[in-house]
Amino acid sequence: MPIRVLSDVLVARIAAGEVVERPAAAVKELLENALDAGAHEVRIETQEGGKRLIRVTDDGEGIRAEEVARAFVHHATSKLEDIDDLQQIRTLGFRGEALASIAAVSQVTCLTRHVDEKAGTLLRIDNGRITIQEPQGRPAGTTMSVEYLFGKVPARLKFLKSDQTERGYIDAMVMRYALAYPTVRFTAVHDGRMSLQTTGSGALHDVLVEVFGANVAEQMAPVGDVVTTEGGGLDFDARAGTRVRGYAALPGASHGNRSKIMLFVNGRPVQDTRLTFAVVQAYHTLLMVGRYPIAVVLVDVPPDQIDVNVHPAKTEVRFRDADGVFSAVQRTVRAALLAHMQPPEPPSVFQRAAVGEFAVPAPAVGDSGHDESRIERRSESDPVGGVDRERQWQPPLAGSEAWDRVGISRHGSDRPAFQVPQSGAAAARQGNRLPALRILGQLAASYIIAEGPEGLYLIDQHASHERILYEKLLAQHDLGAVTSQALLDPLPVEVSLDGAAMLEERLSWLAELGFEVDGFGGNTFLVRSVPQMMQQDDIAAALREIVAELETGAEPMRAEIERRILRRVCKRMSIKAGRVLSFPEMQALVRDLEACESPRTCPHGRPTMVQIGVVQLEKEFGRT
Ligand code: ADP
Ligand code: MG
Repeated sequence: MPIRVLSDVLVARIAAGEVVERPAAAVKELLENALDAGAHEVRIETQEGGKRLIRVTDDGEGIRAEEVARAFVHHATSKLEDIDDLQQIRTLGFRGEALASIAAVSQVTCLTRHVDEKAGTLLRIDNGRITIQEPQGRPAGTTMSVEYLFGKVPARLKFLKSDQTERGYIDAMVMRYALAYPTVRFTAVHDGRMSLQTTGSGALHDVLVEVFGANVAEQMAPVGDVVTTEGGGLDFDARAGTRVRGYAALPGASHGNRSKIMLFVNGRPVQDTRLTFAVVQAYHTLLMVGRYPIAVVLVDVPPDQIDVNVHPAKTEVRFRDADGVFSAVQRTVRAALLAHMQPPEPPSVFQRAAVGEFAVPAPAVGDSGHDESRIERRSESDPVGGVDRERQWQPPLAGSEAWDRVGISRHGSDRPAFQVPQSGAAAARQGNRLPALRILGQLAASYIIAEGPEGLYLIDQHASHERILYEKLLAQHDLGAVTSQALLDPLPVEVSLDGAAMLEERLSWLAELGFEVDGFGGNTFLVRSVPQMMQQDDIAAALREIVAELETGAEPMRAEIERRILRRVCKRMSIKAGRVLSFPEMQALVRDLEACESPRTCPHGRPTMVQIGVVQLEKEFGRT
């Protein structure tokens, strides 16, 4: 065949395929035009899955009579003036291609009236040719009817699916715009049956109820500052930088594929594998394999930070700072999830322990006040979640790398909630500190089983409590502010004769350690007050430990002797092995341990925990 230049009509038909490949794509373009025209109400009607008819009616500003025909010319747009505008796109449309493309492959009837004009216009275009243009009345706004889409393009028609399937695509499209524009009232009617209607109340959550149903909507947690910026649409502030908001379903509600991860960039529904992945990553280890999040995530970036002119359908965007946007999405969604998830129910055995024989008195796990009531109170006063919820609930196992990437920082805290122990730069920065751990249970009434970023942790309850008490007492002592409690009945304690002499000399030291002790004659002493954390049962034993330490006499330095005394005292004070702990007790203990400078050893240098890494577990199970 000779080379020839194709006719305009043929060119238009070929080009149309890029923009409108199926009815839902035409719906998308018509919706965008309605929204760009400032509509408050948009009605979508279809017949036969949009193949027979698509009609979009809006109450936007309308098209001026003299411009109606021009709207259907290729590259005709009122939304771009010069090349610089391409950097600052604030409308959904800008290519001036949609109407021309649709009109090239269907019969379009446009009835429109501009707000400033008295008369409206009726324009008919039959597969690219204007057949009727005449004045006709209507309220301000526009109705675009598209009939027999691809009626003259059999190749395209052949690829369309059943009416029902095409209808599904259309509904999905309408839903997306309804989510992006909560202030607009959307109605979708297919073959006379209404399939979707939103209120236009402006509250995104109202749209969620319509789109996902009340059950799912109920389980969706606000992401970012969605509450204050629910206006939706092209709602961005160039100075604000990247902003992420929306709603994300808590792990209790999930979906079998990624189709319910809905992403919007500057009010524009987009398909973006990377951002989708960012959302999936935010749920890392929270969802079972094969389950996917349900989420509506609206990303707002200054318009000059994105290129929306990547694909004719404008469903792809390029970010200048793709990594920054990725991590903003992942971080914000994850933070929202952690803030709103309830702590896991402790297994019933622990619940029983908590209310039963071990409930009272609570062990003196420092003065940290990690009792349930306090946690409750805090979360109430902090409805958005924030710090304390995050501390209550900790995400389960994750590979350290992924964990590192999540890197959620607890606002107002000096250390991130998740730390990767002993790995690379993080370890250097954080030293010996512990990551946040999630408690799984207790083993042999002696070890707390917990899960952390690097795998399994078995924590020796006695040794760790020693560590916690030691650091607390030491800190108080170094500040010269050991809080001690006076005993109601001073406790007489008998010590060895040698020890009594040494004790007599050091009573002032002991006072600084929180022990107020008086001689009572002979080798008996009266203990009047003890460090606040100490329990009655331990007092006599602690004093004997002190004496035993003094008797060793090996260390001349006062500071060192004091430390040794403290270590011995803490050993006495700490929770014994063999004690069943309630879930809150374990939580308090582990939280306090996380706060320690050197959580991995007891004051005597023995390990407080055994850690089994994921890699090692995989080896043990022959997975590598
Ligand atoms: P684009 O949206 O990229 O500008 P379109 O081909 O979709 O290109 O539309 C061409 C022009 O027609 C728009 O720029 C707008 O001025 C006008 N237009 C289309 N639909 C509407 C509508 N529903 N209300 C008002 N004006 C419209
Ligand atoms: Mg358009």
